[in-house]
Amino acid sequence: MSRRTLTGTGATPRAAVGTVVWYDRDSDLGDPDETSVDPPTELERFEDAREAARAELEAERERTAERVGEQEAGVFDAHLQFLDDPQIESGVTSAVENDLPAEHAVKRAFADPIEQFQEMDGRMAERADDLRDVRDRLIRLLTGSERVDLGDLPNGAVVLAERLTPSDTAQLDPDRVAGFATVTGGRTSHAAIFARSLALPAVVGIGDELREVEEDATVVVDGETGELCLDPTDERREEAATASEVDVRTDPVSTVDGTTVEVAANVGQPAELDGVRAQGADGIGLYRTEFLFLDRQSPPDEDEQYDAYTTALDTFPDGRVIVRTLDIGGDKPIPYLNLPDEENPFLGERGIRRSLDSDTELFETQLRALLRAAADGDGELAIMFPLVTTVDELDAALETVDAVATQLDAENVTHAVPELGVMIETPSAVFAAPELAERVDFLSVGTNDLTQYTMAAARGNENVEALRDPTQPAVLRAIARTVEAAHENDAWVGMCGEMAGDPDLTELLVGLGFDELSMSAVTIPDVKAAVQSVHTDEASAHATHALDAATREQIRTQLDE
Ligand code: PEP
Ligand code: MG
Repeated sequence: MSRRTLTGTGATPRAAVGTVVWYDRDSDLGDPDETSVDPPTELERFEDAREAARAELEAERERTAERVGEQEAGVFDAHLQFLDDPQIESGVTSAVENDLPAEHAVKRAFADPIEQFQEMDGRMAERADDLRDVRDRLIRLLTGSERVDLGDLPNGAVVLAERLTPSDTAQLDPDRVAGFATVTGGRTSHAAIFARSLALPAVVGIGDELREVEEDATVVVDGETGELCLDPTDERREEAATASEVDVRTDPVSTVDGTTVEVAANVGQPAELDGVRAQGADGIGLYRTEFLFLDRQSPPDEDEQYDAYTTALDTFPDGRVIVRTLDIGGDKPIPYLNLPDEENPFLGERGIRRSLDSDTELFETQLRALLRAAADGDGELAIMFPLVTTVDELDAALETVDAVATQLDAENVTHAVPELGVMIETPSAVFAAPELAERVDFLSVGTNDLTQYTMAAARGNENVEALRDPTQPAVLRAIARTVEAAHENDAWVGMCGEMAGDPDLTELLVGLGFDELSMSAVTIPDVKAAVQSVHTDEASAHATHALDAATREQIRTQLDE
């Protein structure tokens, strides 16, 4: 194969060299046979395939629960439900009655639901992948085609696929698989998120060219540059091999002059905890609890949440675990909560607004679980509230915490009120930061939303990428103002937006005065190394200089210098 480089979207800043294993999910059945079809026989074949699919899914569910975690295994519950979906069942029946063989009937019955999900936004669109997964499983069983076992791949395999669905990725063993690359998919697809949480080199969305790569070819998959190099030079291979050797620092780190900066991880699932610890996280700086509510039919109850939170606390016995209360709405819909159909959901009912209004019961249940976990878990818990825009909202949230504590007292249930904090994600929160900081123990800057709202540049809209940069002077000044407001009001301050995970910005953030930085696990080693090379005095002089800059270009030039 000729030496060539294909490009897509890098999912995780890691590279590896390996051998191609194609994972073919061929559901192109060609035209149905001309021979006439006996509907009862075809229906029976469908029933048999469904039974076999159910058995496979249950076995995979069990294997995933053991290997990855109960939460990840939840994906298979959704698949089991799709298997019994009445719309699909009646679609298959009517297609078979119209003389289609069972495999073609399955393909037709899934077409409309897949299209419907595909047209939706964000995570709902990913349900289309779940449906394809179930469809392809049934077709494989009906046609008796061979299947690559993703749970049993040779060491050093680079998996190439049209796309990888949740049940595919959950089977990949990170100790054996070198990485993967897909024809379709973006940075927020399930496969990319999975790659990041396991620090697995991956490039998604390469496009049609990927299909030309041959089985057994040697490739470098570089999730940092978004490249897949075919027949790489010795130099390129070596680069990839050494790039994967990460120098993990498990102890807390300080600057050259001895200022300790806590470097923590952002997580969304219990299954990620061991991985983030292995990357050297001092604790959890953002536990996005809405992920505990996804891929299921009803919310987790108090005990299930309590277990999730104590598991996190027990993983970091000497560290801090900051749990953010439910942040749904915006780009994070949860089907069973019947969110309103808003014209602009990012400016609508999301975050704390829902907790204080339509989801008060969920909020109280979550706080009960958290206050119990604060007393029982090994590590130190902290709770923070998302998308606060007014002091009144914070006061109402704090009153709810008090009310829940009083109720637990009355019930004689062991509990504790931990440190409390507010996320600073909107310009209004920046302006109110002194009053917010007065009322809580800490502030945590969510630069993903703060940048979107300050610059009026939507998250996920690639046309406004340059505006959605936290080193825009307006955003930087908003951040500096937040740090100052926190420290003047005896609160500590952290950052948990994506900006915190960029090692090129670590000096600037330490210079601005951050006490804690929290990020995707995979960037922790690099940020810890960056903290250790910072001289605090120089860093704060550089930060002051950056705050004087009029343009992003000037700030970027200063950073380069
Ligand atoms: C943020 O907005 O920066 C943040 C950390 O929250 P999320 O990305 O979950 O909205
Ligand atoms: Mg946010």
